[in-house]
Amino acid sequence: MLTYSSTRGGGDKINAAKAIIKGIAEDKGLFVPSEIPKLKVPVEELAGKTYQEIAEIVIGQFFDDFTEEEIKHCVYSAYDSKFAAEEIAPIAKIGAEDPAYILELYHGKTAAFKDMALSILPYLLTTAMKKENETAQIAILTATSGDTGKAALEGFADVPNTQIIVFFPEEGVSEVQKRQMITQEGENTHVFAIRGNFDDAQTGVKNIFADGDFAQDLLEKGYKLSSANSINIGRLVPQVAYYVYSYAKLVEVGEIKAGEKINITVPTGNFGNILAAYYAMEMGIPVNRFICASNENKVLTDFINSGIYNAEREFHITNSPSMDILISSNLERLLYHLSGMNGDEIKAYMKSLDREKKYEVSGEIMKKLQCFFGGFADQNKTLTAIGEVYDNNGYLMDTHTAVAYSVYKDYVRETGDKTKTIIASTASPYKFAAAVSHGIGLDIEISDFHYVESLYDETKVPVPEGLKDLDKKEIRHKDIIEVSRMKDYVWNSLK
Ligand SMILES: *Cc1c(COP(=O)(O)O)cnc(C)c1O
Repeated sequence: MLTYSSTRGGGDKINAAKAIIKGIAEDKGLFVPSEIPKLKVPVEELAGKTYQEIAEIVIGQFFDDFTEEEIKHCVYSAYDSKFAAEEIAPIAKIGAEDPAYILELYHGKTAAFKDMALSILPYLLTTAMKKENETAQIAILTATSGDTGKAALEGFADVPNTQIIVFFPEEGVSEVQKRQMITQEGENTHVFAIRGNFDDAQTGVKNIFADGDFAQDLLEKGYKLSSANSINIGRLVPQVAYYVYSYAKLVEVGEIKAGEKINITVPTGNFGNILAAYYAMEMGIPVNRFICASNENKVLTDFINSGIYNAEREFHITNSPSMDILISSNLERLLYHLSGMNGDEIKAYMKSLDREKKYEVSGEIMKKLQCFFGGFADQNKTLTAIGEVYDNNGYLMDTHTAVAYSVYKDYVRETGDKTKTIIASTASPYKFAAAVSHGIGLDIEISDFHYVESLYDETKVPVPEGLKDLDKKEIRHKDIIEVSRMKDYVWNSLK
């Protein structure tokens, strides 16, 4: 059986169920598997399987303390008609010559790729609680740059024995994202805007997790904390499934041959999505290069090019707000794997990041990092990409996907590499309706909600169900709080 332990070397080796319940390790490290399992079914045989069948295989191999029935229950409860696309993650091919394959990960309830994992996490967590005879209620703490919050709220709303608490940056999310969160229904949902950015929210949440006394006090009230951020391994592993699925799908429809290497481009913030792609490669999916696309907050671009991670820089609020992040948590997991699972080394990097806001990785890690290409697109390039793809291909992308597309184009120009490429498309264009409308040259509207209407009138791309009539829903969460008070609000939310 696989065991899970901290990237920073501390604490015990535990099973997947316990790691999912805990969310983050006691030494603030992230849980990683003792090894990344090799796919037990060869790629040729995966071609033709449904999303659910592939998810069962992938998730079952990582969470091998769950029974087959338990995994089946989780997978089929999560990936059902909640998704607006029967394939769950359909692929759009754009461009006749050197086509790109856009993997649409946003057909879940909240119209962003976070649904891919957050529709299953509540089932994985409640199953884990049963397996471990957990008697406490689980309180999910979540920092969000806009999309995780809503997807977590939607996933956990009214799930028995759970509470869900979300912190989002007051000024750092789109109008649609904010409205989705503050109108959330469900007796166990708690949503707070913070005066700060995403990194402040994420650091605040991590500090609450690391506060042993607070955990003890909460336990006396009957609560344990867990996380719905991609620091939770229960978030990350379900995301591996769609990379395996998309590869199998391209083989099935004859776009690639089994065994042929592909590139994978991912619009990146917290590094969870692209790390899932790396895990898929380690499982056996043939990958040539990972293209890591950033917006103006290009800390990862600089890191991949220099080996120096430097978070001491200006923070930009951009038109791809879900990637406005300077501390990419999941990079820690990649470094752990690239270091040959050296917890002490990772602990030293993270200590340096805490104290000096930066660290430099070893030459050994730098060498292995070469399978990643890093690039970025500023806001103008992002809008240009939306306009170009819409004009040339009649295909509408959101701003995050456009960042990825733009960096992918730069990569091809720079390297001449013609390897077939999957581009992860992470949100519906309607979530960022204002920016997308500007990208395709529509007139100025008064609010995001008017943009949704005019964008539909122009493009006839269907509006996701969950985004319709958002502006007419009752606002249920009104608190705006200081970062320093996050802990108090957690305490008061848990009765
Ligand atoms: C969260 C998010 C990202 C970034 O994904 P990471 O896993 O944090 O790197 C990109 N695009 C959208 C729309 C998102 O919601």
